[in-house]
This record gives sequence, C-alpha cells and structure tokens, in this order.
Amino acid sequence: MNILITNDDGIYSPGIAALARIAKQFGTVKIVAPDVEQSSMGHAITHSRPLSYRRAPITFEDIEAFRVNGTPADCVALGLHMFPDTQVVLSGINMGPNLGNSMWHSGTLAAAKQATLLGVTGIALSTPVGKTEPDFEGLSAWTRDVLKILIEDKEPALYNVNFPDQPQGIAWTRQSVRLYDGRVVSGEDPMGRENYWITVVPLEPADKGTDRWAVEHNLVSITPLRLDLTAHDELAERVKREQS
Ligand code: MN
Repeated sequence: MNILITNDDGIYSPGIAALARIAKQFGTVKIVAPDVEQSSMGHAITHSRPLSYRRAPITFEDIEAFRVNGTPADCVALGLHMFPDTQVVLSGINMGPNLGNSMWHSGTLAAAKQATLLGVTGIALSTPVGKTEPDFEGLSAWTRDVLKILIEDKEPALYNVNFPDQPQGIAWTRQSVRLYDGRVVSGEDPMGRENYWITVVPLEPADKGTDRWAVEHNLVSITPLRLDLTAHDELAERVKREQS
C-alpha cells in the first residue's frame, strides 16, 4: 500500500509525525505537506504563481518528507504528481476538530477531498486541542483501528474522522448541520484602530448520530462524505413540477 500524508498545520506539526508513524505499519509512506500552517484555507489552490517543494530537513524515521509553499489541496495535487502510484491520502492529524460546519473551511478535509477528486481515497483525521497538546500516544491504537477499517477501500472514497480526547468507541456519523457558528468580534490594535476577529462559538448540543454528538460522547466519529453537493430531493421536485 502506497500512502501519501499531508495536513494543514504544516509539516512540523506533531500531528503529522504521529500519523506517519502509525501509517508506516500499513505500507510505504511519503509526506508532502505545507511549509507553514494553512489551517482554515479550505480547498484553495495556487494557480497564479509556481509551486515548489524542498526535502524537509526532518526525518520521520525512514519516511521521505517534502515541504511545499502551497495549500493542503496543492500538496495533494503535487504529491500525487510526484508519487502517482499512491493508493490512499491521509490528512492530519489536525490539531483541532473538524466537525459539522467547519468541514466547509477545513484545510485538513480539503486535502482529503482533493485526493478523492483525483481518484484516490482521502481520509481526514482531526482531534481537539485543549489546554494541553493532544495525547497522540493515547490515540495511536484508535488511529490504527480507524485506518484498518478505511484504508483498504477499493472505490475512491472520502471520510472525515474526528477523535475525542479519550475515545471509548467508534461511531459512524452524519455531518452536524446548524447555522454557522462563527461570529465577528471587533477589537482594537495597539494604534487604536478597529479590527475584527472571526470566532467560532460553541453551539447548542448536537443531534444524536452526528459527528459533533459522537465526539461529545467520547466516540471516534467517522463520517462518510460525497463530493456531490446537489440537493437531490429539491432537484427531483423541481424537475417533476416542470414536467406537470
Ligand atoms: Mn489545522
């Protein structure tokens, strides 16, 4: 199994090192990841300037690693060009959850989406960060279990995985959809000029069976996703109305 790993926290994040160590047990791993943090970049791609990569001056044991001056989606496009025999792309482990609404702006998930768009299974993995760093050692057995379930997919598929701090099980979930949980808060810079922060505020408890619900209940959430955003029910309804 040929595995490509990327993330949106940047190649020096402890999350990508933890993921690489576990992925190595499943096959040959290459790392192609952003040279600096690209969190919340969503599915941005770089088209107005050239991309380049350098060998990262770190060694993940014997794993080849490359840092790219681009976005997570760029890294997957470039990584699949460099390593065309890649069979699965893993993105993460992100330092911060990617649940519900945050799927829309997540760079971690966008990297997995880019893989699926290019015909390769993409798996995004994330975990919350509290006052202390995530316990990647404690999550390693769970990460291994999740990869065992998802990595052998024959059809190119897309999965969003979120680990709670201390998992007690695994749940298949759907995306929690609520009105946007971001808020604009105004502040002031040291020169007295007004500025703004986009913040994410916690929502009401999530519905049972959703990704947020699972993580709130200490379950590893696995959400199978699709690329098709079409509202199929409405489409069918509108086509039917037009015909009658
Ligand atoms: Mn991130």
